[in-house]
Amino acid sequence: MKFCGGKEITNTKTNTKNVILKYFLLSLIFIILTIITQVGGILYILSIYLAKKFKLTKPIHRLSIFIVLYLISTFILVPIIAPVFGREKIDNTDFIEPHTFFYTLMNRNYVSPELNELLRDISIELENKHKGIKLVYLDANFPFIDKFPLLPHLSHNDGNKIDICFIYQDSKGKIVNNKRSVSGYGVFEAPNPTELDQTSECKKKGYWQYDYPKYLTFGSINDEISFSEIGTKNLINLILRNKNVEKLFLEPHLVKRLNLNNSKIRFHGCRAVRHDDHIHLQIK
Ligand SMILES: [Zn+2]
Repeated sequence: MKFCGGKEITNTKTNTKNVILKYFLLSLIFIILTIITQVGGILYILSIYLAKKFKLTKPIHRLSIFIVLYLISTFILVPIIAPVFGREKIDNTDFIEPHTFFYTLMNRNYVSPELNELLRDISIELENKHKGIKLVYLDANFPFIDKFPLLPHLSHNDGNKIDICFIYQDSKGKIVNNKRSVSGYGVFEAPNPTELDQTSECKKKGYWQYDYPKYLTFGSINDEISFSEIGTKNLINLILRNKNVEKLFLEPHLVKRLNLNNSKIRFHGCRAVRHDDHIHLQIK
């Protein structure tokens, strides 16, 4: 009896451990999905509930329910509901597109109607200046809730901010639509020896995170292309011409190299990350 009781206690302990582990994993998946996609965490919980309700116990069933729910939400429901929160999906056209499908799939492509219109205008003007060249965007905002940050960008939380890719050229100087990294981030147009090295300055002050986007490239691609000073400068000037634009972040050495002089161009500070791999733009 004593022995059996001991076994029962051991079993109960193991069960308690398993339950704790199960809830820990559930919470972890919920948090990760919420951080990356905003709606994914809630849909994951919903998919577990539905799987239980319909007695679908196999992991593949739960995963299938989640995928179906997620795709229906991302491509049908979220775009319909987002305007209630003052956001809309960026209108992709012949002149404007995300750098990769990831940004669309992860619901990271929502902006205020004002920013959507501004992007449309800029993309048309850019195409007028450089035939066939598109405005390519990266992280914008999530569809819902002001102050809900789109990590790792703390400020992308109100529909009024977006990151835009630089413009590049091929070896003959022809402007192209290709970019330098898989994610669009992390391949830097670094300062040359005569230019201000802001990254070193910030890191000396202890801001270790300043160049961490170098870990977010997911691979560097198109080595044959290089930063287009003319193309990027024209794009920035088209952005700055709009009176709705409040701020534009660009690394100081590039501001100087491109000979840009506009009070809307600000230094983002060492607490942020370096901006010599993309342009950050925000409207009022
Ligand atoms: Zn940004």
